[in-house]
Amino acid sequence: MQHIIDRFISYVIIDTESDSNSDTTPSTKKQWVLAEKLVEELKTIGLQEVSIDKNAYIMATLPSNVSHEVPTIGFISHFDTTPDFTGANVKPQIISNYDGKDILLNKEQNIILSPNYFKDLLQYKGQTLITTDGTTLLGADDKAGITEIVTAMEFLINNPEIKHGKIRIGFTPDEEIGRGAHHFDVEKFGCDWAYTIDGSQVGELEYENFNAAGAKITFKGKSVHPGYAKGKMINSMLIANDFISELPRGETPQKTKGYEGFFHVHHLTGSIEETVLELIIRDHNKKKFIKRKELIAKIAKKFNKKFAKQFGEDIVIAEIKDQYYNMKEMVLPVKHIVDIAEQAMLELGIKPIIKPIRGGTDGCQLSYKGLPCPNIFAGGHNFHGKYEYVPVESMQKAVDVIVKIAELTAISKPI
Ligand SMILES: [Zn+2]
Repeated sequence: MQHIIDRFISYVIIDTESDSNSDTTPSTKKQWVLAEKLVEELKTIGLQEVSIDKNAYIMATLPSNVSHEVPTIGFISHFDTTPDFTGANVKPQIISNYDGKDILLNKEQNIILSPNYFKDLLQYKGQTLITTDGTTLLGADDKAGITEIVTAMEFLINNPEIKHGKIRIGFTPDEEIGRGAHHFDVEKFGCDWAYTIDGSQVGELEYENFNAAGAKITFKGKSVHPGYAKGKMINSMLIANDFISELPRGETPQKTKGYEGFFHVHHLTGSIEETVLELIIRDHNKKKFIKRKELIAKIAKKFNKKFAKQFGEDIVIAEIKDQYYNMKEMVLPVKHIVDIAEQAMLELGIKPIIKPIRGGTDGCQLSYKGLPCPNIFAGGHNFHGKYEYVPVESMQKAVDVIVKIAELTAISKPI
C-alpha cells in the first residue's frame, strides 16, 4: 500500500490544472511536467512502445504473454486537474486507520471534512485516507486512475504467471475542459476496446451517459423611450423570460435524477435591444433528446409567429449544437466488455454499481470515435474541491480490477 501512496503523492504534488481559455494542447504548459515524468516511469517499470506525441498524449504497451489470439484492451485516464479549484501546492495528508470522526483539514482556517456532511466517509472506517490540507483540490481525479493503471501494469510485469493479452495504456491531458478525447489517436492506440479509470467510489461501472446539446438563443428587441413606448417597444428580456416559462417546469437539474433528462438555463444576459439565453439539453434517451431539441425550435417558431407583424423579421434565433452522445449505443453491441468488468468485480468480492452517468466522459467521445470505452471507479470522492479524498484501499481495489480484467480477457472468447 505504501507503494501506491508514494506513487499517488508523486503525481498530485505536480500542478496540472488545465485551462479552457487556452487554444493549445495541452492547454497549460505545466501539464508537460507530469507527462514527461510519466513517460520515464512507464519506461522504468518495463512497458514497451512508450510514446508521447506533440499534444502530450501518452501511450504504452504491455505485450501479450499468451500464444493464442486475445483482444487488445486499453486503460485510460487523464493527468490534468479541473480549473474549478486550485491544484497548485497540493499538500496531501495521510489519515491512517480512519476513526469515522471529523477530519481537521486545516487548523488555521478551520476547514473540516466531516462525515456528518460527507456520509460516504463512514464506509472507510479503519482505512487509510488521503486528503488535502483544505487549501487545494487533491487531484485524485484522475491521478488516482493513473496510479492504479501504472501499478497494475507493474504488477503484471512482476507476476508473469498471470496470463493476459496485449494491453495498451493511454494518458491524456485536458479531460477536465472536455478535450481529453479530441486529439486521442484511436487508430494508433489500436485496441478492440478500453476502459477509462475515472469514476468515483468502489464498484462504479458506467456505460450510459447523457446525449448532450447546448443552445444559444438570441432575442431581439426594440428600444423606445418608455414614455412613448406603447405598442412600439419590444423588450427582449421579457421575451426571454416568457421563453423560459414555456420550458417544462420540473425538468431542471435540481429536480431530476437517474434517467430523467432536463433543460438547464445556465446563462442569461440582456438589454432591451438584445438578450442572449444559453442553456444545455440533456437526456439519456435519444428520442427524448431529439424531442427536447425540437421543443426549443417549436417555442422559437411560436414566438416568431407571434411577433412577425410587429418586428418584421424573426425575433428569436435559436442555435442548437450537439455536444456528445450516449455511449450506450456504441457499447451495447459489444456488451461483453461491460460484462467482463462486472465479472472482474464480482470475482474480487466488489459489488458492481452500474448506473447512468448524468454527464459525459472522455469514454463517450472515444466510443463514438470507434473505441468502445466504459468507465470504471478510481476510488476518490468529492472531486473538484478541497474536500476531495481517496481511500488507499479503494485504489488497491481498482488495481485488482484492472489486473482481473486483463486476466479474464485472455480467457474469454475474442469478439
Ligand atoms: Zn476525471
